[in-house]
Amino acid sequence: MKLVEYEGKDVFVKYGIPTARRFGVVKIGESPDKIKIDSFPCVVKAQVLAGGRGKAGGVKLAGNEAEAREFAKNMLGMKMVTHQTAGQALTVEEVLVEAGTDIEREIYISVIMDRKTSRPVLIASKEGGMSIEELAKNKPELIVKIPVDLEAGLLDFQARELAFSLAIPKELFCEFTEFAKKLVKVFTDYDASLVEINPLVISKQKKLIAIDSKIITDDNACFRHKEMEALPDRESSEIEKEAKAIGINYIGLDGNIGCMVNGAGLAMATLDTIKLAGGNAANFLDVGGGAKVEQITRAFKIILKDSKVKAIMVNIFGGIMKCDDIASGIVEASRNVKISVPLVVRLEGTRVREGKEILAKSGIKIHQAESAWEAAQIAVGLAK
Ligand code: GDP
Ligand code: MG
Repeated sequence: MKLVEYEGKDVFVKYGIPTARRFGVVKIGESPDKIKIDSFPCVVKAQVLAGGRGKAGGVKLAGNEAEAREFAKNMLGMKMVTHQTAGQALTVEEVLVEAGTDIEREIYISVIMDRKTSRPVLIASKEGGMSIEELAKNKPELIVKIPVDLEAGLLDFQARELAFSLAIPKELFCEFTEFAKKLVKVFTDYDASLVEINPLVISKQKKLIAIDSKIITDDNACFRHKEMEALPDRESSEIEKEAKAIGINYIGLDGNIGCMVNGAGLAMATLDTIKLAGGNAANFLDVGGGAKVEQITRAFKIILKDSKVKAIMVNIFGGIMKCDDIASGIVEASRNVKISVPLVVRLEGTRVREGKEILAKSGIKIHQAESAWEAAQIAVGLAK
């Protein structure tokens, strides 16, 4: 789950990580006039799930209240493309207004999960800010990496070493080392895969302030964080939300072949096979281990909600579920839902012969395939 900036800063506040004073958050449809601003300059920030807002007009300093409200009004509803949105335009639905900071230095600091060493690693640079990507490319020697023990957290000597390498001024030294330890604690406490502050600012008044926040948590650990269940789901499409509500693992993709598969591994392999056959999947869909008629019906309904879908490829391995049960499920489901596009089915596993016979005798137009490769080729051909 990705938190927007102000949600991430709410977490920081809980941990005593200093942030700028907040004047408020305005949502689309609300008037920015409701926000009382009592110090200037203040900063108006588009709350979208992507960085790079500064360069895309999503971060503005306002010198007075009228200007701040004007910026907020213009930002709300704005379509924003940043270098982190992969060409996609995100609609600004919320705007954060907070006190402006007199910036002396911008530092980059983050904690990510490092797959290579199987532990969190703290990454930092004394030259943070909006050009961190270029810095990583051109001056990688300015980036420090400190592996962190998951149990022990950031140790004192590591925090000091970090403070030295970031040239933290001595009056902020202790505060910084405490801050770094808190940041790692946020990472582990929230089961995060990323906690990033860019920039962490040293202000002209010699204060340490987190100006930005980016937190991504592991969805599989959501059950451990009841407070996060209350946060709005900003990442899922309407179809994805619907699928989630009925226990179907569905992720929408860009292609035109709808997929119904059992098991996440087979679903991934199916996407690859379709790609190899020259096509593109419209979705990842795992019906789950014990899918019965009802679940298969629901899965067809979900797939067909996507108007891009021009063919459906069912790729099921009958292990716990037997192929004849699945075949009956497909037949019955296709009576319940009007499947308006060609349907390709590949069954394998227990009682596969019986399953294929049920499909063949059903009178429903189904293209049966002997292998996933054949099914993908047929589906790609039919979708064209
Ligand atoms: P991002 O571009 O999406 O990462 O958004 P940030 O919140 O990091 O803001 C981008 C840049 O705007 C920062 O790197 C700062 O240079 C600048 N900025 C943000 N807040 C303030 C502020 O309060 N005062 C000043 N002077 N600059 C700010
Ligand atoms: Mg930033």
